[in-house]
Amino acid sequence: MEFCPKCGSMMKPKREENKIILYCSSCGFSKPLGGEVSSYKFVSEIKHAPDKTMVVIDESKLPKVLPTIRIECPKCGNMEAYWWMVQTRRADESPTRFFRCTKCGYTWREYD
Ligand SMILES: [Zn+2]
Ligand SMILES: [Zn+2]
Repeated sequence: MEFCPKCGSMMKPKREENKIILYCSSCGFSKPLGGEVSSYKFVSEIKHAPDKTMVVIDESKLPKVLPTIRIECPKCGNMEAYWWMVQTRRADESPTRFFRCTKCGYTWREYD
């Protein structure tokens, strides 16, 4: 925890562009915390719909640049998709790989 050098209030981490800054909500003072968002703490949340077949991705928590992989989109047949890993809440489960078609934007998860 850090305190504002100007007014002594507690400073909170805040995302700005691609950086995390420490921000004082009392006087507006801010300073960089260092490090890119991607190396900071990237956690994606998976929200399961009641039927547990649909997965909703929180877009704001995804890195802006995702790696791509050669894989067939089950919807449009395009052969390239972005992919990323998501650790589910249960620690005993291995991370799930997600894909998003670069062409139609269809998103699916890898079943093992
Ligand atoms: Zn302050
Ligand atoms: Zn597609």
